[in-house]
Amino acid sequence: MSGGVLGLRSAVMSGPRATLRLLSSCSNGCRFCAQRGGEPLRLTLDEVGARLRALRGEGFAEVTFTGGDPTEHEGLCDAVRAARSAGFTAVGAQTHGRRLREGALAADLATAGLTDVHLSLHGLGAALHDHHTGVPGSFAESAAGLSAARVAGLTVVVNTVLTRSNGRSLGELGGWLASRGVAAWCVSVPRVAGALRERFDPVFPRLGVLLPHALHALASAQREGVAVFVRGAPGCLLGPFAARALSDAPRAYHPSRCEGCPARAGCCGVDPTYLARFAGDELSAGRAPKGARGAFTGREAALSRMFVGEGPGAEEDRQGLPFVGRAGELLTKIVQAIDLDRESVYIANIVKCRPPGNRDPQPDEVAACRPFLEAQIDLVRPAVLVALGRVAAQALLGTDAPLARLRGSWLEVRGVPLRVTYHPAALLRNAALKRPTWEDMQIVRDRLLASGGTARSR
Ligand code: SF4
Ligand code: SF4
Repeated sequence: MSGGVLGLRSAVMSGPRATLRLLSSCSNGCRFCAQRGGEPLRLTLDEVGARLRALRGEGFAEVTFTGGDPTEHEGLCDAVRAARSAGFTAVGAQTHGRRLREGALAADLATAGLTDVHLSLHGLGAALHDHHTGVPGSFAESAAGLSAARVAGLTVVVNTVLTRSNGRSLGELGGWLASRGVAAWCVSVPRVAGALRERFDPVFPRLGVLLPHALHALASAQREGVAVFVRGAPGCLLGPFAARALSDAPRAYHPSRCEGCPARAGCCGVDPTYLARFAGDELSAGRAPKGARGAFTGREAALSRMFVGEGPGAEEDRQGLPFVGRAGELLTKIVQAIDLDRESVYIANIVKCRPPGNRDPQPDEVAACRPFLEAQIDLVRPAVLVALGRVAAQALLGTDAPLARLRGSWLEVRGVPLRVTYHPAALLRNAALKRPTWEDMQIVRDRLLASGGTARSR
């Protein structure tokens, strides 16, 4: 565990959606698939149940099953039922949609409690889509799957990966999606990961040339009533569409062109491979978006949450969920000791991947993940933050001061009061730390009471 942060508040959060990766396999062979490689994964239903409970414990109220392709997991209907039983109010599946084409599976999933389908389509017609998936006939099957999902009453949102091959013809796809009752459409710039590492040149789009075509297509679809979003593109190439940008993990920034850019905190930049190949000539801090990115309201906010992005990689699955096992049990006791339950606690990590050998994260790794953490804090707006251990405290506060100096007083991060205490794993190693941790948490409880009450007092 590389440093945890608790966001404490007195209600279940309704923020971003959780993802749960059911399996690694998929019968498509997309040219840009980021899931390629890594160890095979196929969760049992017991494992699914345990992870769903843990996600509820972290405060998530919505979840999307991902893969590979989750419809290729024989237990998907049971997993959906388990999610609804666990209290998730929205349950989605991120899929190529081919296995929905007969209609029976879509109907069964809807009956089990699935609410939405996040379907991938990369061009209108076999010539384009099948070229991207590597599977002849996949467009016809995915299109039939889309229709079956609509017939079953599921909300369908579509993601299209922008590539060198489809950029100029997305306008046709947008109109077709509108005619099929698709609720929302997102065009995504791919990450240079997985299969795309070997295929950068033939697949990756030149952004300055192809993004304008994509934005034109999005504008047409929007006029026809489809909610549109864009993901993974630098803000300065989006013009007014910067307001339609979904949040995305940071990639890289041009050392001089992005220097001092006012939009940088909310911009994902571009992949380092892209910068190395094209020098970032298209980027300009002077064209950075002035307005808020991704400030959606009502139905658009709900639709935007359905685009959960790529499923987590194989390494994250090996790593598992935060705060499970003995340290997790102890954390639950600590939280309960101040009259909260785990559903009132939002748990985040300083870095989103485990550093090799479980070593402390290095400064560049902390810096790379910091925008994520800041976005989580801004979204959850906890009444109080608790940094668990030295690594979390130092990373949150941007200091190398020892834990002993950081404990014992109220600090502040992004306008939220912060208390530093020991990591549960340290308490397992040294029982003498339990008392000072208990004292820290009593002070946190008093602050929570002063700010509106704990979960059990409401
Ligand atoms: S991108 Fe998605 S649909 Fe395509 S091969 Fe990968 S997991 Fe399957
Ligand atoms: S110049 Fe600004 S908006 Fe453009 S890529 Fe760099 S940080 Fe993002």
